[in-house]
Amino acid sequence: MRLTRIETFTTPNVGFVRVTDATGAVGWGQVSAYHSDITMTVLHRQIAPWVLGVEFEDQDDLFDRAAEKEHKFPGSYICRAIGGVDTALWDLRGKVEGVPVTTLLGGSPGPLRAYASSMKRDITPEAEAERFKRLRDEKGFDAFKFRIGAECGRGLDEWEGRTEAIIPAIANAFKDESVTLLADANSCYAPPAAIHYGRMLEDHGITHYEEPCPYWEMEQTAEVAAALDIDVTGGEQDCWLPTWKRMFELRAVDIAQPDILYAGGIGRTLRIARLADAHGLTITPHSANLSLVTLFSMHLLRAIPNAGKYLEFSIEEADYYPWQYGLFVNDPHPVEDGHVHVSDAPGWGVEIDPEWLAKSEYAVSEDEA
Ligand SMILES: [Mg+2]
Repeated sequence: MRLTRIETFTTPNVGFVRVTDATGAVGWGQVSAYHSDITMTVLHRQIAPWVLGVEFEDQDDLFDRAAEKEHKFPGSYICRAIGGVDTALWDLRGKVEGVPVTTLLGGSPGPLRAYASSMKRDITPEAEAERFKRLRDEKGFDAFKFRIGAECGRGLDEWEGRTEAIIPAIANAFKDESVTLLADANSCYAPPAAIHYGRMLEDHGITHYEEPCPYWEMEQTAEVAAALDIDVTGGEQDCWLPTWKRMFELRAVDIAQPDILYAGGIGRTLRIARLADAHGLTITPHSANLSLVTLFSMHLLRAIPNAGKYLEFSIEEADYYPWQYGLFVNDPHPVEDGHVHVSDAPGWGVEIDPEWLAKSEYAVSEDEA
């Protein structure tokens, strides 16, 4: 197999990738949301030159070689750029074989439980509880994630008393119901406070405690995980495979949460998933917006043996994240009875809106041979 062209269509918030191979087959992928225009510059400058025109059979090896050629630049942007090309290649392969990507990965089309994921801290505990109940009634969600502390908050709350109020407010809203509740601290606490709030979550029946400590301080997270019964979870920012290995060896998390587009695509995320499986851990991917990262996570979760209980599904709408609307011809993941559905359409089974593409910034790299 040989790629001859990589085209990108981007705005500062989101960007799509179209690859073409030597037979003329095409596939669509996406780079991670936010600063996507910067990722596209990295893609054309530092990834495209190492993958265009190269004969390959092993896609992972192709990208490993590109990363090795750019070994002076390890980290997020290289992985984000690889993720755009990797996900486009999976689409191309699915379309050539006439099967959805999940089938290529060993899975099958079908339903997937989703949890309603709040991105808001600027919401009162009462309003958040109301919103969750409305979503339960309207879309059938039976799992909900809310935010505690402040993002990288150095122990401070979004406003004083919010965390002490929102934990019981959400728990009491579903007191007599069978729902699953999750909380995310986004790297807020040092271990003593993290353990304090973790016990509060346990006392209120919350079962998932995400990123209690600064994520880069893995020993701190491990200390919290060892002290608590609740599942301590994390890993969304981590793209470097040795970092994942260290996380698992330290038993820092009970559930691993790679983000397919931060981690560098499906191939790299599969490696994280296999490593997690070897440590007896499940995967609940980070998919915090309604661009293609959520659809990619759906295909992955329908395929891996150590899939977690549900898909992260952002409940934020156009007023909060206007950029994530108008991207696709059809909604790739309507929610019904709390579930989304992986279709049997080839590849990712999604069509990018031509009007959105026409308004985006276009760039192309081609094999000059
Ligand atoms: Mg999170």
